[in-house]
Amino acid sequence: MAALRFDLLTLFPSLFDGFLTESILSRAIEKALVEVNRWDIRDWAQGKHKQVDDRPFGGGPGMVLMAPPVVSAVEAVQALGERPGRLIVLTPQGRRLDQNLVQELAQESRIVLLCGRYEGFDERIFETLEPETLSIGDYILSGGEVAAMAVVDAVMRLLPGVLGDAESAVDESFGPDGGLEYPQYTRPRTYRGRDIPEILLSGNHAAIARWRREHRR
Ligand code: SAM
Repeated sequence: MAALRFDLLTLFPSLFDGFLTESILSRAIEKALVEVNRWDIRDWAQGKHKQVDDRPFGGGPGMVLMAPPVVSAVEAVQALGERPGRLIVLTPQGRRLDQNLVQELAQESRIVLLCGRYEGFDERIFETLEPETLSIGDYILSGGEVAAMAVVDAVMRLLPGVLGDAESAVDESFGPDGGLEYPQYTRPRTYRGRDIPEILLSGNHAAIARWRREHRR
């Protein structure tokens, strides 16, 4: 069993296709370090048209996600598996995602992420499910899928064994010792007349570590 199971509820499951099948995350899934399941909210919609959204009472632009299909989808998915998991709705009004929260989420064994669309959710979805809410920043995306990808990506790279080099998560910006990362260089040594700092060629590990500490941004 994977250390962490994600369940993503969305109206557009195929948006996650490339995200789940490339690079670090796909390797982590292959190694069963993390499990990611996608669920189409529309599968819980009733009627011939499988309606999931409707006009807002009181008027106004756009469409609102209806409570019945969304709540049924979340409850059904949470009932699968041994534990309901930590339920998080992606919304611009939510708690702002930061590295502290990412570290906290990396300790969980199951996270259920609900992605909104259109003008967002019928308020009774929040009242019924009492989820946590999470925002990835003060701007408006078209849907919660990109926000969910940000959560999955940031969290999975902290799981043991996911990153090839165990050090690479330790030394990064927002890491345990705070601050932002120092400037990094690779070949060529000179690029458009710009040389790399001599100290990085010195082989003096203590001096390099000191230089990097001093040059944290
Ligand atoms: N009418 C909503 C408002 O003004 O707050 C915006 C809805 S937005 C177009 C559609 C969906 O995208 C939201 O329900 C949410 O799931 C997602 N979303 C948009 N911006 C987001 C953000 N900054 N963080 C997390 N999710 C976001």
